[in-house]
Amino acid sequence: MNITGLHHVTAIASNPQRNLDFYAELLGLRLVKRTVNFDDPGSYHFYFGDAVGSPGTILTFFPWPGSRRGIHGSGEVSATAFTIPMGSAGYWLERLRLYQVSDERVPKRLGEDVLRFADPDGMPIELIESTPSDGAVPWGEGPVPAEYSIRGLHSVSARLQSSEETAKLLTEVFGYRWAQESGNRVRFVALAGGGIGKFLDLISACDVQPGRVAAGSVHHIAFRVSNDEEQIAWRKKLVGLGYQVSPIMDRTYFHSIYFREPGGVLFELATDPPGFTQDEAVDELGANLRLPPWMEQARPEIEKTLPKITVPKKATL
Ligand code: ZN
Repeated sequence: MNITGLHHVTAIASNPQRNLDFYAELLGLRLVKRTVNFDDPGSYHFYFGDAVGSPGTILTFFPWPGSRRGIHGSGEVSATAFTIPMGSAGYWLERLRLYQVSDERVPKRLGEDVLRFADPDGMPIELIESTPSDGAVPWGEGPVPAEYSIRGLHSVSARLQSSEETAKLLTEVFGYRWAQESGNRVRFVALAGGGIGKFLDLISACDVQPGRVAAGSVHHIAFRVSNDEEQIAWRKKLVGLGYQVSPIMDRTYFHSIYFREPGGVLFELATDPPGFTQDEAVDELGANLRLPPWMEQARPEIEKTLPKITVPKKATL
């Protein structure tokens, strides 16, 4: 029983329209689900991903209008990275400039070309030239031609005051292996699974003050587990190791448990099934506001409360 990589990353934004425009238009991700925050149905929950919403390609946002900006620091995710096809960095540099996003081409890092920039809330995003996994299905109907399109998550980097215990959790419990290191960055890789989002970088930063999670911050990262039976076993295992683990939660598109890892980042384990096509056909993903069955009765009220948005052309259909 090993973790097979990242399932999704969830972050906080301050403006739903700006968030949609940046991820669905500029970055050309598919809006695979438009729903509400189940704990706060007056606000949206957006899911962006590949053409079919494959686990490992998903970045989700709670866009809370007017929320204040987070402070980047230790004990949190310091960058969310996507894989782009080899040789596509030039296309992306041009596209970022076209949209007036200031980028930074990082000197080769662990042998890879990295473009680094911030989203409208200041959240650090990286595009890394890497061999794409077969598991990601390019979204060719969007504003970015399929040959250049984002192929799912590459990695997240977590900046921690002390990374030793987190490294132990990854290698001794999750089944990750040390892969590479450079300076204060150590890369771990999930050996099992389809290869999307298989990397996790830990950055040791003992002198960096703890961050404050708000707009522009990653709220949590989720790892993949194959099914409900495995999740139950994982929960038992983690509780046995002394972690405070949440009960299993039904997130409609996956089932989740949450716990805080020793370095301070909120971790989730999410099941691959049932997936994003369980309430919408592949060709309709993201086209309409989806609500869980227990909220359908309140739909008129919810739709009235939600901020008005325009989904960028070609972002869904
Ligand atoms: Zn999550």
